[in-house]
Amino acid sequence: MLWAHARFRHARNVDIQTRVAEARRARPESEAWLGLLDAALGESEDGAVWEAAVPKPAADRPVKAPLLSQTQITFAGRAARRWVDGMVRRAARVRARRIDGLALLEAAVCQDDTRIDALARTAGTEPQPLRVAGQMAALPLLQACGRSLARELPAAWWEGYCPLCGAWPVLAEYTGLERKRQLRCGRCGTRWAIPALRCVFCAETDHENLGYLAPEEDEQMRRIEVCQTCKGYLKGLTTVGALAPWAILLDDLMTVPLDVAALERGYQRPERPAYPLEARIAERRRPLLGFAFAAWKEGA
Ligand SMILES: [Zn+2]
Ligand SMILES: [Zn+2]
Repeated sequence: MLWAHARFRHARNVDIQTRVAEARRARPESEAWLGLLDAALGESEDGAVWEAAVPKPAADRPVKAPLLSQTQITFAGRAARRWVDGMVRRAARVRARRIDGLALLEAAVCQDDTRIDALARTAGTEPQPLRVAGQMAALPLLQACGRSLARELPAAWWEGYCPLCGAWPVLAEYTGLERKRQLRCGRCGTRWAIPALRCVFCAETDHENLGYLAPEEDEQMRRIEVCQTCKGYLKGLTTVGALAPWAILLDDLMTVPLDVAALERGYQRPERPAYPLEARIAERRRPLLGFAFAAWKEGA
């Protein structure tokens, strides 16, 4: 039923189209999720609304705060709200007017599920589809921030969470001849280096407590990095070149068997986000008209 969603663009990039089609064939059970991701990647390609809203990082943020921490993100018109409303209608099957689209976008950027669940309760809808709608609706903005703010990333970053948006990494990538460990964020696409022997989640560095699980037939390419101290896991991938930002969530979906293997062995990923961003999102409805202030002159 393509007609029902004809308002959404699909991604025009041929590589994205091919990978999304592959994912649809391999994971038909994820069709609804993939439809939202496809729409979000298509929206990202036409990035003017989103690029224009990329905020200036707060100069006085704490050393360990990601770039988007405590930023003010302002949209010049209603395009962002309309985009979120469309995703809400599609994902949550609820009349979008019952949910404040910008409040949902803000909560999703901040990974604040408690706030999203409260929005769902008020609108009388299920929280889970609204969480997914929020995550996907936030992708074009976060990917625009990833592109525009890359130059402002700190030169050294020792935290396990994304230096730009505060999310836990989706995977660790090992590329090039040196096979250096690079973490990848599935939201903004940011890539940052971190030592191989260091747990992303709890900063454990004792090699006795760090290890990996590898599928028997595929030891070089894929593995699951595990920490005995916090029982956290992270998927690892050895590749020739870094994944494109849009490819990270698709790769995450295609490697779900690794997540299942990790969960079955008692490992998990943290439920809570790494860093509360406290970013604010607002809309500037109308430009101010050109009035200038003039003081009353004495005796006038
Ligand atoms: Zn990020
Ligand atoms: Zn750990």
